Amino acid sequence: MTNLTAEVTDLLQHLIRNACVNDGSRGSGNEVRSADLLAGYFDGSGIDIERYEPAPGRTSLVARIEGRRAEAPSLLLLGHTDVVPANESRWRHDPFGGELIDGEVWGRGAIDMLNLTASMAVATRRLASEGFRPDGTLIFLAVADEEALGTWGSEHLSRHELDAVGADYVITESGGIPEPGGDGALRLPVLVGEKGSCWCTLRVTGTPGHASLPYKTDNALVTASRVVQRLADHVPETRIHDTWRQFLAGMALPPEVTEPLLDPERLVPALADLPVGMARQFHACTHTTIAPTVVHGGTKTNVIPDQVDLQLDIRTLPGQTLPDVQAILDEALGDLADRVEMIEAHDDPSTISPADTPLWDTLERVTQGFYAGSHLVPMLSVGATDARFFRRQGTPAYGFGMFSRKLTFEDFGRMFHGDDERVDVESLRLSTEMWQAVARDLLAG
Ligand SMILES: [Zn+2]
Repeated sequence: MTNLTAEVTDLLQHLIRNACVNDGSRGSGNEVRSADLLAGYFDGSGIDIERYEPAPGRTSLVARIEGRRAEAPSLLLLGHTDVVPANESRWRHDPFGGELIDGEVWGRGAIDMLNLTASMAVATRRLASEGFRPDGTLIFLAVADEEALGTWGSEHLSRHELDAVGADYVITESGGIPEPGGDGALRLPVLVGEKGSCWCTLRVTGTPGHASLPYKTDNALVTASRVVQRLADHVPETRIHDTWRQFLAGMALPPEVTEPLLDPERLVPALADLPVGMARQFHACTHTTIAPTVVHGGTKTNVIPDQVDLQLDIRTLPGQTLPDVQAILDEALGDLADRVEMIEAHDDPSTISPADTPLWDTLERVTQGFYAGSHLVPMLSVGATDARFFRRQGTPAYGFGMFSRKLTFEDFGRMFHGDDERVDVESLRLSTEMWQAVARDLLAG
């Protein structure tokens, strides 16, 4: 193991062991542990460190290498330090042990995204200790609360601390997992945009009564089950949007694969021939999806329920907002639409950055040093990242990383928020070297 690989591996292991688990509640996360860890890691490097703590324990850390020219482009490397919960009984190794086993670091956050956060920190420290004095400023932000709504992290910082975290370009998770294109050359996806999320609660009402007399009663749970079934049966409109076209063009797959995927009539039937992980991804990229996820209702075994609340995770395409979602729900529910009331909705619309920026050109140049002959392809992320807060400020933000060929796109899909999350140390080294090269290319002037 090289020194650099050992350094980034060790930092990742410690970040995993800090177990900054974010369950969505204000008191969870405790990212202060990893802010302390990183502050200690940067100690003695001469880098300026600032800490921000909008709520107790929800600490974010900013490390800066100030550029020499204010007008030169600046770059923010954005990594989150929180992780989602893990069900330990389903894992083969301790999800918070950070164990190194056969060249892989195991644990929650190993690919989402403590791997990248660790590699960004090591790249920043190494650049500083080599005396890197760029024209443009380099900022590393280890941010709290990405795995919930960003309230105590990127939302807060992008609104109130833009002097500290604002930059001309942002890179965060994830992307960059190498996959061969139709011509055999590797493709490295760059997440230029992401779907929106609209999380809402539908209330279904009925009439209470004694459950010993169910004949012809108005049972809210029975109605709710029909509502769920209609949502599950709904066939959403297929939307062939620009980023999807650019992605398919970039992959250079054979025409017999590509053509149906560009035809709204043929896309869904064509998914049946693909591996299920890829089919699910392609479906989500081209449709507004609705997943019923939580149900609360009923009071007692012998009472006909008069109220059931259903929570839906709805993911929207570029350009869609809450009225579009309401129209889709009305269409899906048909004559049941007037049996439900939307009592809560959190609409977080889709965001997109252009793919023709100096940062894109930098990535194109730099990646040749890792995978010669590879090509970048723009892609729409189906999940949300903190990039959205910066895109809304008008800043181009991409999701990218550098990975070995050990794990496939299917593996990554399974491990994101899943069991047995792990990353190989070669990928850690590649990402660390890539961030250094990106900073040198974009900021050096
Ligand atoms: Zn993440």
